[in-house]
Amino acid sequence: MKNIIELSLKELEEALTAEGQEPFRAKQIFSWIYKKGVLDFDRMSDLSVDLRDTLKENFTLSGFKIAKKLQSSDGTEKFLFELEDKNLIEAVSIPAASRVTGCISSQAGCKYACGFCASGKAGFKRNLTSAEIIEQVLHLKYDSAAKDLTHVVFMGTGEPLDNYDNVLRAVRLINSPDAFNIGARRITISTCGLIPGIERLSKEGLQVELSVSLHAADDKTRDTLVPVNKIYPIPALIAACKDYISLTDRQVTFEYILIDGVNSALQNARDLSIMLGNMHLCKVNLIPANPVEEFSIVPPQEAQVLAFRDYLIDQGITATLRKPRGVDIQGACGQLRLKNADK
Ligand code: SF4
Repeated sequence: MKNIIELSLKELEEALTAEGQEPFRAKQIFSWIYKKGVLDFDRMSDLSVDLRDTLKENFTLSGFKIAKKLQSSDGTEKFLFELEDKNLIEAVSIPAASRVTGCISSQAGCKYACGFCASGKAGFKRNLTSAEIIEQVLHLKYDSAAKDLTHVVFMGTGEPLDNYDNVLRAVRLINSPDAFNIGARRITISTCGLIPGIERLSKEGLQVELSVSLHAADDKTRDTLVPVNKIYPIPALIAACKDYISLTDRQVTFEYILIDGVNSALQNARDLSIMLGNMHLCKVNLIPANPVEEFSIVPPQEAQVLAFRDYLIDQGITATLRKPRGVDIQGACGQLRLKNADK
């Protein structure tokens, strides 16, 4: 049976018509699921018993359970979900002054083994279905203390552009006024630099934000931090980003994790500013490394972080500094899953 939250409104209308039901009921069902967070057909009280029976015969609704929920002292909430096949995935709710960001996973595990990421450490299991992606958003919206989800970022476990079709289907539902109604500009797809996916995304006509995990301005360093760099090296990646900008007129954000002794010296800032200097519509998001037990990486001293940022700004590059969140609840991507994987 198909999970009903894989369907767009139009697809659900068609499915209901095929079952001899009135197509306008689809909007009511969408309202129960997406506007009220109800994941049980029997609780959809304004639907007839006959229609609820039809739904139960043809569709499933909820596909996984909350295995663990941790709350950080900074308000960040981390969910560990157990999928039907027992795989574990993570999602995080991150409240800030004027927004609540949901960070969601696109795959169970990850094949790209970035040198600072606990998700890559545990290896790849499988792609998530679009329903499994959407269900994370439902839980973040309705089961977290923050509730009002305003932004969604694909920065949890997995490489979203490696699960392109399911991620795009989920993005369209997150964006749909009939479902979550979160503006495309508030949805971020973050990639480790899969050029074919970036090229494909540039032709979708979507206003989503693209974020690229860069983390180094030279191939030698990036090869160790983001091993897929050996397939899609920096010059080709930067060229693809420039093409993306000119085709979409959208900004690209480059994520740059600052790791002491690896990529955080002023010379690294200099190299980065030269590389991005002639790229209009780009921004660098600096993230002091989140200490991960499984790796021996540490963030630089605060003065060095600020000097790195200020150097970029002095060179005319937009640079922001992101504070690590949820450190006390294994906030870094994949940490919680890794700790629970063998339990
Ligand atoms: S950073 Fe992203 S692409 Fe790299 S291993 Fe982690 S989840 Fe995979």
